[in-house]
Amino acid sequence: MTRRSFLAGSTAAVAGVAVAGASGAVAAAPRRVRTTASEHRVIVVGSGFGGAVTALRLTQAGVRVLLLERGREWKTGPNAHTFPNPTSPDKRALWHRSAPQLFGRPFSPEPYAGLIDAVVGDNMTAVTAAGLGGGSLVYQGMTLEPAEAVFNEHLPEQLDWQRMHNIYYPRVAEMLQIATAPDRLIRTPQYRAARVFAAQARRAGLPVSKIPMPIDWQFALDEIAGRMRPSYTDGSGALGVNNGGKHSVDVTYLRQARATGLLTVATLHEVNDVARDRAGKWTLEVSQTDVNGTTVARKTLTTPTLVMAAGSVHTTRLLLRARGSGAVGDLPDAIGTGWGTNADRIYVWSNPGLEFGAKQGGPVVFGSLNWDSPDNAHTLIQASIPSLGMEPHSTMMVGYGVSRARGAFRYDSARGDARLHWPADGDRRIQWGHIHPTAVKIAGAGSVLTDSNRFLNTTWHPLGGAAMGAVCDLSGRVHGQRGLYVLDGALIPGTSAACNPSMTIAAVAERALDDIVRHDVGRVI
Ligand SMILES: Cc1cc2nc3c(=O)[nH]c(=O)nc-3n(C[C@H](O)[C@H](O)[C@H](O)COP(=O)(O)OP(=O)(O)OC[C@H]3O[C@@H](n4cnc5c(N)ncnc54)[C@H](O)[C@@H]3O)c2cc1C
Repeated sequence: MTRRSFLAGSTAAVAGVAVAGASGAVAAAPRRVRTTASEHRVIVVGSGFGGAVTALRLTQAGVRVLLLERGREWKTGPNAHTFPNPTSPDKRALWHRSAPQLFGRPFSPEPYAGLIDAVVGDNMTAVTAAGLGGGSLVYQGMTLEPAEAVFNEHLPEQLDWQRMHNIYYPRVAEMLQIATAPDRLIRTPQYRAARVFAAQARRAGLPVSKIPMPIDWQFALDEIAGRMRPSYTDGSGALGVNNGGKHSVDVTYLRQARATGLLTVATLHEVNDVARDRAGKWTLEVSQTDVNGTTVARKTLTTPTLVMAAGSVHTTRLLLRARGSGAVGDLPDAIGTGWGTNADRIYVWSNPGLEFGAKQGGPVVFGSLNWDSPDNAHTLIQASIPSLGMEPHSTMMVGYGVSRARGAFRYDSARGDARLHWPADGDRRIQWGHIHPTAVKIAGAGSVLTDSNRFLNTTWHPLGGAAMGAVCDLSGRVHGQRGLYVLDGALIPGTSAACNPSMTIAAVAERALDDIVRHDVGRVI
């Protein structure tokens, strides 16, 4: 493999996009599996940001919750080998429904309940995660709150930025123990790429700031001191940080929810279909699998209160399937629409005259937040590439920003599933008018920027599909469907206002849960 193909591959791997997915088919079942039926007060589907906030706030309100998660639990700790290494990925990297390709080559590990699931649509591949904790397991952890003017331009003003800013964003920040990288870490040789990015951006007259991360940076300092094997400090944490110290939602929100004694977590439980019975209760057809994706049991679960938190892509698909098959009548027409990418871009930044370091610490230290104009707001950050064992003269730059382009999931009755349709070059205005010019300025003379989206157009930030306004109210109640809620990225209308989405998804869920606990618990729930 050449250095160039490795770099392109690493970008894809770090982005989690090295999978040409063919999600959809239900895991093959052995001939005889048990089918059981049970009823539950509240069922939450999915354990990412939206699902974890929901599980904690409902259990704290005294409500018993069953949380269904298709992926497995991943436990970390100093020197653990929990997660795969992006330079030598194995079966743990991929969700078993994906038809995989790694580093641009066929890669067929044995089926496994792995971390990354790519959903391929027209002109766009949406990258999602699987596992207890959802995207928080593999995300880099950039935790940004949108600026007021950008928020008000792109998200419903009724959400009330001031209240979000005073109450809900800080609540998320506290739960995830947000912190920026300490200067004494940034001064180490392993963080040279971060320093180069900051210097180049400042030289170009662009704003530079430290990015808040859900990380106990002492872990990285301990790695530098040799007290732990590298996980943060050599760029190997792109598919999960083995040493721990990353405050993903499994070890924050969900740990606290479990401590109430009212949360039952069912991992390796995949919801295949959602229906509504004559009595108005929600019925879920669920496959319980082993870690290899083989169905070991089938379950029919019933509940008066269903919270969809399977992420923008899978919540939308499940709801479209329910509507398309007639299993749920009168679901809003707008389901599937208003879907956006957050205008993600992933570049390899190469410059023979710059030294970024053979080992590049991460996950992310600095960013350039260009948020002055609500119409053109965009962000560029530097992220590490996994170690090649020599100076690569390359690192990664990632961009995202506001975009009004929207795609849609549409139900295909022949396949019994929904497919993503994205307009070709949909984010062109913000990409070519703003993100790319800023990336070029930061990269400076003598640099080459390889835009991985030109080879494989991907987003790690899928948003919308069951958005507030068209499909739900601001608290995720689906219009006209008592007891049905959407509380994940599907609720966010196609953009998170020039920020990575997790903090806004969690803060909107926190806001919704305040409302739901106050008004619905004891009445609907
Ligand atoms: C590689 C990568 C890096 C990222 N970096 C950042 C970052 O730095 N900052 C940031 O803010 N965002 C980042 N993101 C995006 C962020 O992870 C997502 O926006 C966020 O996780 C979405 O939260 P959610 O609650 O909507 O759903 P998710 O976190 O996706 O959780 C949904 C859960 O539902 C489960 N599920 C899906 N279908 C079913 C089913 N049928 N039955 C049962 N369970 C199901 C999934 O397994 C998953 O665990 C990144 C994403 C990726 C992939």
